[in-house]
Amino acid sequence: AKEAGRARMTLYDPSMDADREQRNALEIDLRVAIESGDLTLAYQPLVDATTHAPTGVEALVRWNRPGHGPVSPEVFIPIAETSGLIESLGLFVLRKACETAKQWPGLSISVNVSPGQFRNPAFTDYVRYVLKQTEIEAGRVTLEITEGYMIQNPQRTRQSIERLKGLGVKVALDDFGSGFSSIGYLRQFGFDRIKIDRSLVMGVNEDKRQREMLQATVALARSLDIPVTAEGIETEAQAVAMRLFGCDCLQGYLFGKPVTSDLITEMLEERRAA
Ligand code: C2E
Ligand code: CA
Ligand code: CA
Ligand code: CA
Repeated sequence: AKEAGRARMTLYDPSMDADREQRNALEIDLRVAIESGDLTLAYQPLVDATTHAPTGVEALVRWNRPGHGPVSPEVFIPIAETSGLIESLGLFVLRKACETAKQWPGLSISVNVSPGQFRNPAFTDYVRYVLKQTEIEAGRVTLEITEGYMIQNPQRTRQSIERLKGLGVKVALDDFGSGFSSIGYLRQFGFDRIKIDRSLVMGVNEDKRQREMLQATVALARSLDIPVTAEGIETEAQAVAMRLFGCDCLQGYLFGKPVTSDLITEMLEERRAA
């Protein structure tokens, strides 16, 4: 009986129910937030590696969950992915980002696309629709995708990227170096840009191994003629190192945290006045 009890213990874990309940509650609240337009966007500047002048912004979704406070997109994006909410969330983000970016002529606007959106055969159609609706120049829009999906479906990924590029938008590979990236993939997909993951950039001035790997990664990307952005730049030393390695674009708290669109407008006005 004691054995059976133990076996049952491992099968029935009450904390799993609690987890599931919390997740369900989160999902319900997220659905409501999307439907009632309660998600917002923050914008983080991307700067030229040499002049540090802003060249664009990345849109990052924000959710202030009623009664709980801000929830990280790293928490709610995966839930949106598995609960069928990612399409409407993604559409909201794309439309809002393009609409907002129109007030910043000359700046590019980067939008994160999750595998669930990218997988949808209609994705290209709704990107085309949003471009038309918001009347933003396609060339100013960069869609950032991560590599997870791409490795599972290289053929379809290549086709999707081709169709998107046919619309005139740019496609960037996000979080490069964080997972299974194989540099061999890069050329065949036709990415317009690669973003080096913050986890790699962080170690640039600490660990000789990491530094060399990072340097080799940037050099390889550049040998394919793909421009490289370094993300998660927090110190001057990191900025200097990544520029030396050949990154033409930098992003990180050193240059600006994600902020409201009003603050981006203010920042641009201040720069113009200076
Ligand atoms: P990501 O696309 O790699 O975005 C960069 C993340 O790093 C952002 O976190 C940003 O706030 C943070 N970050 C930027 N510079 C620094 C820095 O110097 N230091 C540190 N410590 N962090 C920095 P955030 O906004 O929490 O977003 C996390 C992830 O959630 C994003 O990673 C992206 O994968 C996903 N995400 C955010 N917004 C969206 C969205 O609209 N759609 C989709 N599909 N995913 C999104
Ligand atoms: Ca990104
Ligand atoms: Ca990233
Ligand atoms: Ca990331």
